[in-house]
Amino acid sequence: MAKLIDGKKIREFNLDKISAEVAELKEKGIETCLAVIIVGSDPASRVYVNNKKTACERVGIRSLEFALPEETTTEELLELIDKLNADSSVNGILCQLPVPEQIDKNAVLKRIFPCKDVDCFHPENVGALSTGTGRLMPCTPMGMMKMLEYEGIDPAGKHCVIIGRSDIVGKPMAMLMLAQSATVTICHSKTVNLAEITKQADILVAAVGRPNFVTADMVGEGAIVLDVGINRNADGKLCGDVDFEQVKEKASMITPVPGGVGPMTIAMLMQNTLTAARIQNNIL
Ligand code: NAD
Repeated sequence: MAKLIDGKKIREFNLDKISAEVAELKEKGIETCLAVIIVGSDPASRVYVNNKKTACERVGIRSLEFALPEETTTEELLELIDKLNADSSVNGILCQLPVPEQIDKNAVLKRIFPCKDVDCFHPENVGALSTGTGRLMPCTPMGMMKMLEYEGIDPAGKHCVIIGRSDIVGKPMAMLMLAQSATVTICHSKTVNLAEITKQADILVAAVGRPNFVTADMVGEGAIVLDVGINRNADGKLCGDVDFEQVKEKASMITPVPGGVGPMTIAMLMQNTLTAARIQNNIL
């Protein structure tokens, strides 16, 4: 049976380290600060924003929240981003997605200064990631790399198969894996003979968004399985993309849902905010 990779434990380990480094910066007179913008009243977004605020409190990062009404225009949002870009006391800027449909999301994501782009969505940061020169990293993929590091797994030479090619998870995960010398295969909705490919994975990453999508016959004996999915099953219970009960009998290590990859994402947002503060203060 697979060893469980405990996301909550690894999150706490990382938050402790971040907390100590935030305190070190404070001693140098630098107060790390994250600004979070939320537009409208989407209940899920509200929960995410509250969780980010709690994580900031946990590590000693000052958090600012800007709650804008549903009918906010792109211009109004860009105006706020310009103000936060110009404010040297703000290190990180995050606009909670999704934004209402009248807002030009790409214009918003491009307007945040790359050095304050803690979600790593700006094209300049995405490009830097692909050349291995980036310092701010996409939070969910970075969280998975930290989980592997914590478990003492070196991706070099391993075959990492990623199911999903989204800009937020699949593609950046492939870049981080390549940077650590893994052999990478990305699968997606048009992939033919998916199970034949996934069975070859030493490290299998599932980022599809469908409950029980990865079944035991798709997993090779002894694979390490990282489940990014956050879904609700027929009973309304939170579950991942992997058929956990079956796959855990075959994998050597596996992340549960909840309590796996999810907890790492916000921790990495804290890491990026700290890194942004360092970049802006020329502390390498
Ligand atoms: P997305 O919808 O943007 O991408 C899904 C990907 O799955 C696509 O690239 C698509 O090609 C692929 N796919 C769909 N059907 C497929 C099939 N039959 N065979 C192979 N590939 C198929 O989703 P996303 O934003 O990458 O998120 C994926 C999941 O991860 C969702 O459940 C989401 O909620 C979750 N998520 C979790 C976190 C976290 O912090 N844990 C962060 C981001 C996303």
